[in-house]
Amino acid sequence: IIEVKHLKKNYGDKEVLKDINAVIEKGKVITVIGPSGSGKSTFLRCLNLLEKPTSGQVIFEGTELTDLKEEELDQLRQKMGMVFQSFNLFPNMSVIENVKLAPMKVKGMSDQEAGDLAHELLAKVGLDDFADHSPASLSGGQQQRVAIARALAMQPDMMLFDEPTSALDPEMVGEVLKTMQDLAQTGMTMVVVTHEMGFARKVADEVWFMADGYLLEQGSPDQVFDHPQSDRAKDFLAKIL
Ligand code: ATP
Ligand code: MG
Repeated sequence: IIEVKHLKKNYGDKEVLKDINAVIEKGKVITVIGPSGSGKSTFLRCLNLLEKPTSGQVIFEGTELTDLKEEELDQLRQKMGMVFQSFNLFPNMSVIENVKLAPMKVKGMSDQEAGDLAHELLAKVGLDDFADHSPASLSGGQQQRVAIARALAMQPDMMLFDEPTSALDPEMVGEVLKTMQDLAQTGMTMVVVTHEMGFARKVADEVWFMADGYLLEQGSPDQVFDHPQSDRAKDFLAKIL
């Protein structure tokens, strides 16, 4: 679904991503781990060209994104849902209006159609009872689940998550991870940057370890967690496990 070739990203003269090569296959769940500042968020944002790579290619469903104009990019970005640490729901709209907005505005869905879809997705994340509530009346975990439903409302081909549980109180992390695990089981292609090692190991088809702008390890959870090849990965895992 995505192929990344020789991706590099510099900020000024600082090299943040250094020759990243990777393939994300349809239906796969990839978790990305690594120390702070290693380039994980930058990498994720390069996948949908929220950041413009300095060089290299990102090929999504056969189209090279790095060549496209902004309007064409917008079209393809709709197929990649993104969920961040901060959920950024629109505070002046109800939960269901948050979920309906993009399908109606961007996809031209009718109010009825978008409403049906939103109810279905809110039920999936366990929040249909809160459809008419305001986001502020929900817990952080519930708000993040709404943000996931909102991203799914665009019916994306894949989902990108950047530390979706890092801003949550500990007791709310589990419900969001559960929602993501359920989503993984539906066959959604997912790339998840996370510090939740239990999740990274349990749900992933592949674990990618990043350090200093390099994608140092790519393998099955058992390979990366139990038999890391690089000293960087060994150090990192020794510190956090
Ligand atoms: P964390 O785990 O803390 O989220 P990360 O692995 O996501 O870290 P990035 O946010 O991708 O790391 O940052 C990688 C490096 O790029 C860091 O050194 C950061 O300071 C730098 N960086 C990120 N964004 C910018 C920017 N817009 N301008 C300049 N430098 C940046
Ligand atoms: Mg980050």
